[in-house]
Amino acid sequence: MFTERVNSLENEGAYAVLARAQALEAQGRKIIHLELGQPDFPTPANAREAGIQAIRDGYTTYVASAGIRRLREVIAEQASQQRAIPINPAQVVVSPGTKPGLFFPPLALVAPGDEVIYPDPGFPTYAAVIKVTGGLPKPVTLREEHNFSFDLDAFDAAISDRTKLIILNSPSNPTGGIIPQADLEHIAARAIQHNAWVLSDEIYSRLMFDGRSAPSIASIPGMQARTVIVDGFSKAFAMHGWRLGYMIAPEALAERLGLLMTHSVGCTAAFTQMAGIEALTGPQDVVTHMAAEYQARRDRLVEMINAIPGVHTQTPAGAFYVFPNVKSFGLSSAEIARRLLDEAGVALLSGSDFGAGGEGYLRSSYATSLEVIEEGVQKMKAWFEKL
Ligand code: PLP
Repeated sequence: MFTERVNSLENEGAYAVLARAQALEAQGRKIIHLELGQPDFPTPANAREAGIQAIRDGYTTYVASAGIRRLREVIAEQASQQRAIPINPAQVVVSPGTKPGLFFPPLALVAPGDEVIYPDPGFPTYAAVIKVTGGLPKPVTLREEHNFSFDLDAFDAAISDRTKLIILNSPSNPTGGIIPQADLEHIAARAIQHNAWVLSDEIYSRLMFDGRSAPSIASIPGMQARTVIVDGFSKAFAMHGWRLGYMIAPEALAERLGLLMTHSVGCTAAFTQMAGIEALTGPQDVVTHMAAEYQARRDRLVEMINAIPGVHTQTPAGAFYVFPNVKSFGLSSAEIARRLLDEAGVALLSGSDFGAGGEGYLRSSYATSLEVIEEGVQKMKAWFEKL
């Protein structure tokens, strides 16, 4: 009755677990939420005020599909500085949230039967989009022993002249890992050799810890012409409900992506874009404070998880997730996640919600308060000790 492209869609694990957790809460159970990947901070006040003022000033109309000129200029300038490459405003397409940046470039680049490489475990939208385009999914495992960067041997085995697109996500959801420069150079050389495009999801690039930064594949010579950078305001600026993101692509592709905007959502809300200009150009102290807070939570969460016998986790370099290894218990991660929710009242995600490569891991978010994190991990510890 429905098309294969729609029949293939599955729910995101986080939404499914949230629904189950809320059903338990409705029965009077107390649930600790570690499953959600949304900032618990309010949007910085200056950005909120700019959005409100913009509504007052009449920014409530249709605007250019690819975005308000000033926002495209500001994004181009900052993205160019961050990645040390020239970017002009015509390469920037503003979108309602970052997710259109995951949909439109594959729609523009992948024909049915083309192969697409993507990280496993990885953000579930990648696999969904590949199926919608009719592309052939080629998941490549991220290896814990390699700080959750690609297994490069597996990557080399997966890539061929049939590969049309390579999706990268660094820092990563769900692992918090980053792809080191040497690996990016390896991937770039193969992409050039096989004439493949790269979609680089850099939504967590401003959420890096310990003074580190996540390199972008677009900065490698020869790569900008075949890379679409995707980034947005949802995470580092705590603007997830505003729906504001952007794609940066070579101009000819950006023009096509702008047309996909025209014929789908039309444009991104103008007052949201005005708030985005303020978020990027106004004071950055709140943004810096939020990142410092995430780092402190990460440190505590990692310390507490590593004190649970049989569980261990790496210290992720970015984003706001840890991805602890629970293989020693001999149970599937889906069963552990389900029982942690039902029996211990702790909601987190099974690594397998992010692909087969996530089996044996759990994903815990630390976009929540230290108190909640501590209570959640204490309950986890007690549950694991009884196993
Ligand atoms: N990419 C990754 C890796 C994410 O984790 C998310 C949100 O969780 C998105 C994209 C989507 O972001 P947005 O809410 O801006 O559409």
